[in-house]
Amino acid sequence: MMQTHRCPKCGSEDILRVPDDPRRHASGNNIYTSTLTLAQKVPVIRYVCCGCGYVEEWVEAPSQRDRLRRAFG
Ligand SMILES: [Zn+2]
Repeated sequence: MMQTHRCPKCGSEDILRVPDDPRRHASGNNIYTSTLTLAQKVPVIRYVCCGCGYVEEWVEAPSQRDRLRRAFG
């Protein structure tokens, strides 16, 4: 969905990119690599299909994926 801009479920091209909001500490789906500091937060970007409501989630930045590998790999 991030690459194709087309929903894999219903075929709609009405896709919204919903970034993490850094002002909201409790925002939903971010991954925390440390319990000590919010600076360790890895933002998860959501792609929402307006046609059917399907949601995909992506950690977009390679540097953030490296952090996840170090924390959980
Ligand atoms: Zn859809």
